Amino acid sequence: MSTSNFIIAIDGFSSCGKSTLAKALAKELEFVFIDSGAMYRAVTLYFIRERVDLQSEQAVLQALESIHIDLVPNGQTVQILLNEEDVSEEIRLMYVSDFVSEVSAVKAVRQAMVAQQQKLGGRRNIVMDGRDIGTTVFPNADLKIFMTASPSVRAERRFAELMAKGETVTMEEVRDNLAHRDHIDSTRQESPLRQAQDAIVLDNSKFTQEEQLKIVIDAYNQLKIKGSV
Ligand code: C5P
Repeated sequence: MSTSNFIIAIDGFSSCGKSTLAKALAKELEFVFIDSGAMYRAVTLYFIRERVDLQSEQAVLQALESIHIDLVPNGQTVQILLNEEDVSEEIRLMYVSDFVSEVSAVKAVRQAMVAQQQKLGGRRNIVMDGRDIGTTVFPNADLKIFMTASPSVRAERRFAELMAKGETVTMEEVRDNLAHRDHIDSTRQESPLRQAQDAIVLDNSKFTQEEQLKIVIDAYNQLKIKGSV
C-alpha cells in the first residue's frame, strides 16, 4: 500500500466499460484519469503512418524515440497528443483498432509505455485503465478492479461508440476485432492481460454504471476506514 498517492488499477478485456468507470471514479474522487489504451493507440497510429516494420527491432526503437505522447485534461475528457497533434478522435478509428494489439505485443513498445505510465502515476492520485495495470504497471496498486462483460454486451458497446462517431462498420467486424484483440492481448509474452489475484471482479453485464461506481467507492471508503488511505 502506498502512503503518498493512491492508485486505482482497472483492467479487463476490450469494451467492458473500463474507461467509463475510470472516468466516473476520477470525477468522484478528484483523481487523475489515465487511459493507457489511448497511449498504445497513439503509438500504433504513428507506426501505421510511418510504416514502421514491427519485425525490425531497430526501426521500432527508432520510432519510439520519435514519439512523444501527452495526455491533457480537457473538461470531462482527456486529449491525446501525439507529437503535439491532437489524435484523440483518430486513434479510436477501426483501422487503428485493427492493428493496435500487434503493436502492443512488441516488447520494446511495452517497456516504453509501462515506464511512461509508471512516471505518470508516480506522485498523483490516479485511476488508470488498461490490460496490465494491476499486474505489471502498478502491482502494488491500492485498489484493483478487473472488469468483465458478456461478448454481446461488449460488441454492442463498441458498435454504438463507432456508429456515434460516424464510422461505417458492421457488427460482425466489431465482434471480429474484439475477439482478435482479446486473443493477442491475453496470449502475448510480454505482460499479457491477466486478472490480478487481489482484484475485485466486476461484471458489467450484471451492474448498472451507478452500481459499479458505488461498489468501487465503497471499497475505497473501506480502505480509508482501515486507515490505509
Ligand atoms: O483500452 P483500449 O481498448 O483502447 O486498448 C487498445 C489496445 O491497446 C488493447 O486491445 C491492447 O492491445 C492494448 N493495451 C495494452 N495494454 C494496456 C492497454 C491497452 O496492451 N495497458
